[in-house]
Amino acid sequence: MCANEPFILSDSKESQDRLSEMLGETLDSVLRSIPDGSAFSGIDPYVLRERIQALGFLPEEGRRFEDVLGDTARDILPNLLRTWSIDYMPHLHSPALTETIAAELIIACFNDSMDSWDQGPAATELEVCMIKGLLKLYGLPETGDGCFTSGGSQSNISAVIAARDWFCSEKLGWDVKMNGLPPEHRKLRLYTSEISHFSMDKASHILGMGYGAVRKIPVDSRCKVDLKAFEKMLEEDVAAGLIPFCAVATLGTTDFGSIDDAAGMRRICDRFGMYLHGDAAYGSGVIMSRTYRDRLGGVSLCDSVTVDFHKMFLLPISCSAILVRDPALLECFELHADYLNREEDEEEGYINLVGKSMQTTRRFDALKVYMAFQTRGAEGFSRMIDIMIDNAAYFYGRISKDPEFIAPVEPEISSVVFAVQGGDEVNKKVRRRLMSDGIVIGQTSMGGRTMLKFTLLNPNLDAKGIDALIERIRGIAAELRSA
Ligand SMILES: *Cc1c(COP(=O)(O)O)cnc(C)c1O
Repeated sequence: MCANEPFILSDSKESQDRLSEMLGETLDSVLRSIPDGSAFSGIDPYVLRERIQALGFLPEEGRRFEDVLGDTARDILPNLLRTWSIDYMPHLHSPALTETIAAELIIACFNDSMDSWDQGPAATELEVCMIKGLLKLYGLPETGDGCFTSGGSQSNISAVIAARDWFCSEKLGWDVKMNGLPPEHRKLRLYTSEISHFSMDKASHILGMGYGAVRKIPVDSRCKVDLKAFEKMLEEDVAAGLIPFCAVATLGTTDFGSIDDAAGMRRICDRFGMYLHGDAAYGSGVIMSRTYRDRLGGVSLCDSVTVDFHKMFLLPISCSAILVRDPALLECFELHADYLNREEDEEEGYINLVGKSMQTTRRFDALKVYMAFQTRGAEGFSRMIDIMIDNAAYFYGRISKDPEFIAPVEPEISSVVFAVQGGDEVNKKVRRRLMSDGIVIGQTSMGGRTMLKFTLLNPNLDAKGIDALIERIRGIAAELRSA
């Protein structure tokens, strides 16, 4: 692109015409890059690496946009992962609803930022409204608060910071913000299940407590926190002089989709004066189902809740929120700068959201939730979530009666962990073989054994598709065993 081209979107007609043209060409390239319904081109990683490395880094002179798009369309687009494929099911990684792709265009065009009112007036007001609505949706007090974040990991880390600061202030009379960790910090303990998300360990490290401060509670046969073991662990730890400050209920574990009993954990946390966070990064979508929403149990009893919109809600990455029961909890992020969020602004009615977030410059992700909620309605979301949950139940129902398969845990949401007969090597090879055919499924382990995993987020998958996958896997497994 030459420097005299109108290259910034503005009120000038040339810039607007040029953007329309570029967007038209870009969308054409994207659509032309979709050869069929498969999830992946199947390209060899070495071949792909060579092609990508040959693209170059920073040319001396700028090039025509059409040429850059041409290179991108040749080497990058065909080898991107196609999240919309019904053959893609390894992770909590969803396709994007079409209206939210349009929302991303709006977000990029305006490029407003959430840190202060003067960087995003309507954006700030809409985020505040969406947070209010979300508090109500999850049964938290409307006097609570919240903030959009970059993802479940950041929402979880934010919650653990809030929990630690609250606990140190309330129970130890210590202001962490001003004074750093309290003298007894080596004794602080966080409790979460042995199959909870690794962002808990990361949070503990980042907070200066280390992995050792995370106590892993055993799970029962349905992969939920064993409440008796949790209570016993707390009694022993307290007797040993340790200081439990927080527990995390996983409301939808990453592998199994199992939902911890938040109400049971709440009772135990109250007995020990602890904070309870609900990590619903996966399970948050279940609240939208009219049929299955009760499965989330005591989500409303948590002090804070992580909601991920880029998983079951089918929104483009990234989009997540942290919700808190008591607005004072987010004060751990409050700090005033004369150049950004003067205290006098708030007195004059201007809201500066930077005071609730770990981030400063922040995306207007709330728009995607707004546009998706309005476009689909409660009814539309309920139907989509039901399909995901029903598909998992159907798949489990079929394989749990089939001697070829081992399926140890009945799904509560939309993930099914399973194995074929023949041991770890056969299972690993089944996944690799499927991958080279453009079918991408997950792999994990359970009790030291290699397991396969379906994470079913695609509302276009149906029973026929599942039947075909089962037969495909059966065929590959039989072939591998006889080889
Ligand atoms: C996915 C997930 C996370 C992390 O969320 P990101 O959005 O990937 O950062 C945290 N907890 C659970 C239970 C998850 O499934």
